[in-house]
Amino acid sequence: KPTHIRKPAWLKIKLNTNDNYKGLKKIMRENNLNTVCEEAKCPNIHECWGTRRTATFMILGAICTRACRFCAVKTGLPNELDLGEPERVADSVVLMNLKHVVVTAVARDDLKDGGAAVFAETVRAIRRKNPFTTIEVLPSDMGGIEENIQMLMDAKPDILNHNIETVRRLTPRVRARAKYDRSLELLRRSKEMQPDIPTKSSLMVGLGETKEEIIEVMDDLRANDVDIMTIGQYLQPSKKHLVVQKYYSPLEFGELRKIAMSKGFNHCEAGPLVRSSYHADEQVNAAAKE
Ligand code: SF4
Ligand code: SF4
Repeated sequence: KPTHIRKPAWLKIKLNTNDNYKGLKKIMRENNLNTVCEEAKCPNIHECWGTRRTATFMILGAICTRACRFCAVKTGLPNELDLGEPERVADSVVLMNLKHVVVTAVARDDLKDGGAAVFAETVRAIRRKNPFTTIEVLPSDMGGIEENIQMLMDAKPDILNHNIETVRRLTPRVRARAKYDRSLELLRRSKEMQPDIPTKSSLMVGLGETKEEIIEVMDDLRANDVDIMTIGQYLQPSKKHLVVQKYYSPLEFGELRKIAMSKGFNHCEAGPLVRSSYHADEQVNAAAKE
């Protein structure tokens, strides 16, 4: 097993910090809000915040009750539930003039509803203040509890996104407490509850999976009526996290995308820098055309 393989050239991109970006960061701090874009040190932040006018908010605090071995979010005892958060997120969406917003949350296994009520309220608050912004939700499995999923779907997001993250075999090693089948079930149940809302899921590659296993994920997602798939390169956020086993080339991503489309997804983004929320604005349009 490789302990360290060199990052290929296509992953080395330069970050330039412009004024717009600094202004947006200031809005986040003043409102005590967290974004995945910043927490995950996402390489696409300038393109997303600056050009595409999209961002991913992380609600329910910055501390997660789980500790997935690929994820840079802090683990520990969570913050007290912040009931003012939905309105502040909605106000920031106004200030940032976002066209598309992704709302995700840490896993709140300490709460009975997994945070679903505040999550749903955030969707409603954004909608009230930004009727033209499309809203994508990216929840954890919320314990796989039916009522939690229902609460979120009742808020009518434009896209339900829940990440499968990795192939079946690697799930116990990569994702803390999450289960492969529970994630598939969440995707299937969401679609049953609101058949008009497109569903989406993301896979990270580079964790030691085989091509056959990737194809199995595609088949499993399609068998559960998932409409959109994204595939991106896993990058190790720190020395404590899982080591990258393979860097896929842009050509290989192109091939994976082709296979996914042949399985019947109506949209697939695949590439080294593709993240769950990358080019999400285009996916809503693609899904709406169906
Ligand atoms: Fe944020 Fe997602 Fe864009 Fe990264 S790809 S900057 S996490 S919206
Ligand atoms: Fe990160 Fe989500 Fe896992 Fe928490 S549940 S550690 S936020 S991937």
